[in-house]
Parts: sequence; C-alpha cells; structure tokens
Amino acid sequence: MARPGIGIWLIGAKGGVASTTIVGLAALKRRLVPPFGLVSSLPQFGHLRLAGWNDFAVAGHEIRDVRLVDEAMKLATTSRAIDPRLIESCQAELAEIDGRVRPGTIYQVGQTIEALAGDAVPRGESARDAIDRVRDDMARFVETARLEHLVVVNVASTERPVDPASLPPTWAELEPLLDRAGPSPLPASSLYAIAALGAGHSYVNFTPSLGSAPEAIDELARLGNTRHMGCDGKTGETLMKSVLAPMFGLRHLQVMSWVGHNIFGNMDGQVLDDPGNKAAKVASKDHLLGDILGYKPQTHVSIEYIESLGDWKTAWDHVHFAGFLGTPMTLQFIWQGCDSLLAAPLVLDLIRFTELAHRRGETGRLTFLASFFKSPYGVREHGFVRQFQMLEAWARKRPGANG
Ligand code: NAD
Repeated sequence: MARPGIGIWLIGAKGGVASTTIVGLAALKRRLVPPFGLVSSLPQFGHLRLAGWNDFAVAGHEIRDVRLVDEAMKLATTSRAIDPRLIESCQAELAEIDGRVRPGTIYQVGQTIEALAGDAVPRGESARDAIDRVRDDMARFVETARLEHLVVVNVASTERPVDPASLPPTWAELEPLLDRAGPSPLPASSLYAIAALGAGHSYVNFTPSLGSAPEAIDELARLGNTRHMGCDGKTGETLMKSVLAPMFGLRHLQVMSWVGHNIFGNMDGQVLDDPGNKAAKVASKDHLLGDILGYKPQTHVSIEYIESLGDWKTAWDHVHFAGFLGTPMTLQFIWQGCDSLLAAPLVLDLIRFTELAHRRGETGRLTFLASFFKSPYGVREHGFVRQFQMLEAWARKRPGANG
C-alpha cells in the first residue's frame, strides 16, 4: 500500500455519512466494490490526475462517545444499507481511524446537538480556545501521518441557521469577535472552518450549517492561499428538483406549486426534528425553485423524523403545473434513497476534486463544485445540468505541472 499523502479530516467523524465514507474508502482501497455513485470515476474525468484511494488517510472530530465500528455496523443491522461483511473486512482500519478521532467542539451548537456530546468534549471553552485546540489536533495528524495536504470536511449535525449577511464582511472585522467577552456569533461549524483555513487546509461544508459561508471567512481562505466550498450536499429530493425544474422552465410550463414531504429515521432526522435545526435544512431545500424558474411558485417542504425508517429516506413530491390553454396538470414522484449511501461517494468526489484544486493552486470558493450542493457558495445557477457543465469545463482546463 502506498504511503498516505493526503489527509481527510471528517468533522462528525462517526455519523452516518462519515462512517459510510470511511467504510466506502476502505472497500475502494481493497477493490471490493464497484465505483457506482462516484462522479470522479466517470470517464470524462479519467484524464485528470486525481488522487488514488490508497493515497488517503482519515481522522477527524466527533462529540459522541461511541465506537466507529459500532456506528458503521448500525448501517448494516438497523438500516440494512451496507453488507456487514464489508464492515467486518475493514474492522482493523476502522479501529485505527477511531484512535485518531479527537473530541470536537460544541461551541454555539444549540441544546439538541449539545445533548449528544460525551464527557470528553470540553464545556465552556472560548471561541478562540476551541479554534486553537481543533487546529492543533489537525496539525498533529498532518505531522504524524506526514501528509502533503489536508482536506477538512464538515459532515456534523445541522446547526441552527445564522444569516451570513448579519456578520462583518471582512476578516479584519470578524476576527476580533472571537476574543470578545460573551459568546461570539459564530457556531462550531465556522470555528472549524477558521481553524482549517487559517492553517492552510482545504475546507468543504457538506451541511447547511454556517461553516465558511461568511464573506470574511472566504477572505481568510484567499489570504492564506487556500480554498473552500459548500454548502449542503445535493443528494436526493433537491437533486431531482434541480433536474426537473429546468425542464418545466424550458417547456414554458408554469409551475404553480411544488410540495415535498420527506420522512426518514436516522440521527440526522432526529436532530432536524428540532424546529430550530430544521429551519436551516428547509431553507436550503426550498430556495432553488424560484432561482431556477425565475418566479416563485407556492412551495412547501416538510421533514419528519420517522424512527423505523432508519437511514432510508422517502420523499414524495407533488408538482402542480399549468400547460397550454392554462390546463392544470400534475407530476408526482417518490424518491426512496439511502441517505448515507447517496452522500458518501459525493464526499469522496469533493475531496478528490478539492485536492486537485489545491495542486492547481486554486484559492477561494471552488464554484466549479456547484453541482454537489443545494446552496453552492457564490453561484446563482441551480440547474443541475448547467452546474455539471461547470465541473466539466473545469476538468478540461489545461492543467499546470502539478494538476
Ligand atoms: P448524523 O447525525 O448521522 O451524523 C452527524 C455526526 O456529527 C454525529 O456523529 C454527531 O455526533 C456529530 N457532531 C455533531 N455536532 C458536532 C460537532 N460540533 N463537532 C463534531 N461532531 C459533531 O448525520 P448524517 O446523516 O451523517 O449527516 C451529516 C450532515 O450532512 C448533516 O448536517 C446533514 O444534514 C448533512 N447532509 C446529509 C445528506 C445525506 O445524508 N444525504 C445530504 C446533505 C447534507
């Protein structure tokens, strides 16, 4: 096995998406699974010098006091989403990664997420102390694993929404807020982003949490010649919306209403059952229709936690639209996907493309990754096909010596 040269730092390292990403990577290293679901394995990206699976080493932050192998096994037993033999075959690697997962920070995450945290997680630390501590954890990993680069990916629970526009727009103005008395307005996801980008690592926000969305944190990335992108992975119902809405637009069919009901039973669903946390997700799933269609149909998005469904999400969408002569018609679809299995390959794709962007010397927001996100930073285009063409155009760019 080649010496690992690229680090993956997962925030929320023992959650459903993270555990599936880790098991998937271990299985890909052993060539035990086909590359289905992996965009970076498509032929149009075959000419890129993307990192190989064996180049990666994994570590991260977590707040729950649980074993990675047990969490992965839940996906096999409770959700029946992964073949348990796959998890058994990589048990040793999971145990090794478990040893590298450090206690995270629960700074400004709200009560629902705080209630998940085990005893090892510090209580009452300042924003600055939290940043310094998580940055040191990442630095230790880079040093001990002798990594050339670290890609930090936020796959932690969804925090309550914070409006990025409510924060000062420059790093010079935002940074002092980290040291002021009383709580800073930045939640944990943004402290991790500041720690990562301030140290020159790449940062990807797969969640709707604030993360690196504020202008000032984008500036921090550019000042440090590093890069970031988010937010909120586009894996299921919203992916369908971003494919279907452009079709209605191009056929000049008037969408009058679009209702989406989502039910699922994993821990993400449990956290999103808190109305505060749910608000961030609903906003992220809802805004793109108006942006794609150019007008705002009546919309409704519901997300309900139904425990028995485990990691299996059902989305039922009802689209009411008017055609020629104003005649109303209906499209309905039902999406039944396994959440973590839809998300994990995209996390691996994002890491591979981001790492190549690092070698290509690209900085700031990686807008070419828009097709992976419900709310892509700095991108107004929400149609999936057009977003995908942005990725293809980036891939066709003439690479420099390293890319
Ligand atoms: P999950 O609840 O299974 O996992 C989240 C993990 O994060 C848990 O292990 C939790 O203990 C940990 N955590 C919470 N706060 C933390 C903190 N401050 N620091 C470190 N660890 C923390 O959820 P999941 O299904 O794995 O989803 C992860 C995230 O990805 C969620 O925000 C979700 O909304 C987002 N997301 C998922 C999908 C998908 O699964 N298809 C799609 C888009 C976005």
